[in-house]
Amino acid sequence: MQTIRTSQPLRALIAEWRSSALRVGFVPTMGALHDGHLALVARARSLTDRVVVSIFVNPTQFGPGEDFARYPRNIERDRKLLTEAGCHLLFEPTVETIYPSGHCTFVDVEGISDRLEGSARPGHFRGVATVVTQLLLLVAPDVAVFGEKDAQQLALVRRLVRDLHVPVEIIGHATIREADGLALSSRNAYLSASDRRSATVLYRALVAAREAIVAGERSGAVARNTMRQILDREPAFRTEYAEVVDAATFIPIETLKGRIVLPVAGRIGDTRLIDNLQLDVDRSPSSSVTPPAAVE
Ligand code: AMP
Repeated sequence: MQTIRTSQPLRALIAEWRSSALRVGFVPTMGALHDGHLALVARARSLTDRVVVSIFVNPTQFGPGEDFARYPRNIERDRKLLTEAGCHLLFEPTVETIYPSGHCTFVDVEGISDRLEGSARPGHFRGVATVVTQLLLLVAPDVAVFGEKDAQQLALVRRLVRDLHVPVEIIGHATIREADGLALSSRNAYLSASDRRSATVLYRALVAAREAIVAGERSGAVARNTMRQILDREPAFRTEYAEVVDAATFIPIETLKGRIVLPVAGRIGDTRLIDNLQLDVDRSPSSSVTPPAAVE
């Protein structure tokens, strides 16, 4: 696996691959890799001939007082995992590569950027949309794989790719979970043993709402309450939101139909956790549920 840190050699290598008619897959990450990230790499490998993974802890998507400075970084371990996973190129840009001095162009995806994660983390999605656009322009992949773990981010990326006519296919990959349902996340490293036990509450709340919906519940208010009650019973967990939204727009819905997402967020101590489940309410109950993808 090669490592490249600047745009010129990146473009040169991608051009070389293209001239050999190789299809390029791309997985953007912030590093501190886990099996969730590696599942995206495996998916990209299965769809393309050459896989590029980026590791960039993007400063513009962290608000003041958030965890940018202490975000876990372990580049040597990441490099080893990516080599084993068959990644062909690690793009590990410097901050100067992405934001050269005088950089003043940002991408705003209106509407979806203001809701839920956007309202909890002002400016977050502007940073995400900007860096994803830059990375898609730099790598120019045929396919880019994103995790459903960050469902609102995935919906935003789909929207910006459509609105800006970016010639890439966006693939969403199912959330990889621990055996007890906790979604893998680089931020789980912040959790103490007791916090870690409390953190299962997100998945428990989501599963309860999903079961109610599969059993026929079609009221958004009831589904929200089902999640709220479970989340609020966990003393260590401070709920920020437990919503039922349309999968494309992330607008809350009252009568459940079509593709929906149940996004939840909250804090355990200083650690902010998010999770979600996605369902197609109109499909038959037995097939309407995305089965949780567990770590082998
Ligand atoms: P991050 O490094 O947290 O920015 O995540 C990079 C990519 O990995 C994003 O597309 C995330 O949605 C995805 N991802 C993170 N955690 C998981 C997980 N548990 N399962 C699947 N994808 C994930």
